[in-house]
Amino acid sequence: MLGVMGQSAREKPSRRMCAGCGSRAAREELVRLVVGDSAPFVAVDLGRRLGGRGVSVHPKKACVRSAALRGGLARALRGVARLEPESIERMLVEQYEQRALGLLSAAQRSRNLALGGDAVRAALKANKGDLLIRAKDSRGRGDELAHTATALGCATAAWGTKASLGDVFSRSKLGVLLITDRGIAAAILDCLSHVEALTEDG
Ligand SMILES: [Zn+2]
Repeated sequence: MLGVMGQSAREKPSRRMCAGCGSRAAREELVRLVVGDSAPFVAVDLGRRLGGRGVSVHPKKACVRSAALRGGLARALRGVARLEPESIERMLVEQYEQRALGLLSAAQRSRNLALGGDAVRAALKANKGDLLIRAKDSRGRGDELAHTATALGCATAAWGTKASLGDVFSRSKLGVLLITDRGIAAAILDCLSHVEALTEDG
């Protein structure tokens, strides 16, 4: 009976319901989690390329939590397994960070990246810069450059540590870097805002 398919069948394909808070949102605002059909597993499908059963959820701590504990995700797993919300949050954070790292590489390959205080300062002086990223443990100089960037209308974000950012570029430490491509900057900011929403307290 087609009638019992209900709302989902009539819904515009571009809108989905969040399995956590239950509100409807544009597909782009939600992340798809693929749920195993036989074995209980959940995979993150950021690119929406995976087949199989899936549920959509806001990439926010509260929504992931309620989806896993009592919402659509718990139902999709048919009570066979109980997934800890923390493990789903971790998977999501990992995927968004991977994506952000890929975007950093893209910025480097296309020469839209300035690494380190001197290079960042020079680029800002030349009025270049769409996103300044500083390590969360950078002090002094990072503050000053972030301030300069903000004054020039360049976005800023804090991510990782000097050691973890350094690792990405085979340096021992990296406190600050600057993206000089608007599209890449926006995509990285998007990833980092999701990471923040998935890791914030409360
Ligand atoms: Zn939600």
